Amino acid sequence: MATIITRPHILLHSFSPSLNLNLKPLSSLSLFRCTKLPNSLHSNSITLTPRRSFCSANSTPPHRKSESISIVNDLLDYLNESWTHFHATAEAKRQLIAAGFHLLDENEEWNLKPGGRYFFTRNMSSLVAFAVGEKYNVGDGFHAIAAHTDSPCLKLKPKTASLKSSSYLMVNVQTYGGGLWHTWFDRDLSVAGRVILRKSDNSFLHKLVKVNRPILRIPTLAIHLDRTVNQDGFKPNLETHLLPLLSVKLEDTSSETKEKTAALTSKASHHPLLMQILSEELKCDVDDIVSIELNVCDTQPSCLGGGNNEFIFSGRLDNLASSYCALRALIDSCESSSDLASEHAIRMVALFDNEEVGSDSAQGAGAPTMFQAMRRIVASLADSYIGEGSFERTIRQSFLVSADMAHGVHPNFSDKHEEHHRPELQKGLVIKHNANQRYATTGITSFLFKEVGKIHNLPM
Ligand SMILES: [Zn+2]
Repeated sequence: MATIITRPHILLHSFSPSLNLNLKPLSSLSLFRCTKLPNSLHSNSITLTPRRSFCSANSTPPHRKSESISIVNDLLDYLNESWTHFHATAEAKRQLIAAGFHLLDENEEWNLKPGGRYFFTRNMSSLVAFAVGEKYNVGDGFHAIAAHTDSPCLKLKPKTASLKSSSYLMVNVQTYGGGLWHTWFDRDLSVAGRVILRKSDNSFLHKLVKVNRPILRIPTLAIHLDRTVNQDGFKPNLETHLLPLLSVKLEDTSSETKEKTAALTSKASHHPLLMQILSEELKCDVDDIVSIELNVCDTQPSCLGGGNNEFIFSGRLDNLASSYCALRALIDSCESSSDLASEHAIRMVALFDNEEVGSDSAQGAGAPTMFQAMRRIVASLADSYIGEGSFERTIRQSFLVSADMAHGVHPNFSDKHEEHHRPELQKGLVIKHNANQRYATTGITSFLFKEVGKIHNLPM
């Protein structure tokens, strides 16, 4: 699962395929802070202040190098906090609240103001945050970055207790997304996710849980029993060979243990031991846990590596790296009260769930979450007056960067990469193109993004 990709790739979507070059859609993109916005891309007098850079260009002055180190350490913290999509969202929420963003409730009426900073979450696994320019007028656009909170992983099945072995407690799992499943073998694994608890007044609440010790392992079959594995390849059956081992079955016949086991076995879908571990972590009774939604997680912390500490060794970089960069860009770009003073647009970040399985869920990018939010924001800011086509005009004025990861050239498999399009580490951002429109990048959007890169000395 360890990945050695150091740069988020950027691919571009525009809400408006016929983007008008006379608009000013990209100049104040929230990835960068601008002191003066060009009225047109043809302007020759663009004066922009470079924001702290995510790239390690050789010319980086010393103070910006220390900023980069701080950003990388913060990213490592974010990765280590975010074992699951739920935790990634919770950590983003914590950072936004600390930065003064106001948590909105989608069930309540919104009363938004220019200069305000807001966010909301859905399903505890997706999030939309935005900051409204103080110069905002109805019809002004959104400058948005979208990324995703989920990564391929193993998820516990609804009935987690496997009856497969008479000697061991095994846990039923299913694969989520397109993962390299052999990398999950022989690792120190645990569980994390969301549980629903019954409170003493018989109401319910959902809570996150993370068991911060290696309670699970998927052992590889010994070489003595699989002599041809190095010639034929390791091809585990995902239904039968990928079950994590939780424990050995204990033969304790004491009456106290029998009584305890009988009580715990009322949760027949799960091994009592697993429920006991969760209840200890949550500081509640086992019977208070009425529902669980857990991922199998790697307990090995993300860290810097390489001879010069130039790599980030971590799982979940796709796409927590982009989620973190987007979040940090929004927070940093409206850090002080004057940061939105001359801004006309609404700066927005959307972190979606379920990208790894096609985005077609209520909390995925395929859901209308973002458009619904945009519609509500426009309506709320318009107060009582909404002119003709306000929302549609807003969309036409908007620009969205879809930020995700690209695979750097693998030094041992360099022939697997297309000869003329080889993303090399530390050479800058990547713009993804696809003639069959798997990516929404067009000649215009990639041109606009490259222009911003030029202005801010960001290689691509
Ligand atoms: Zn991704």
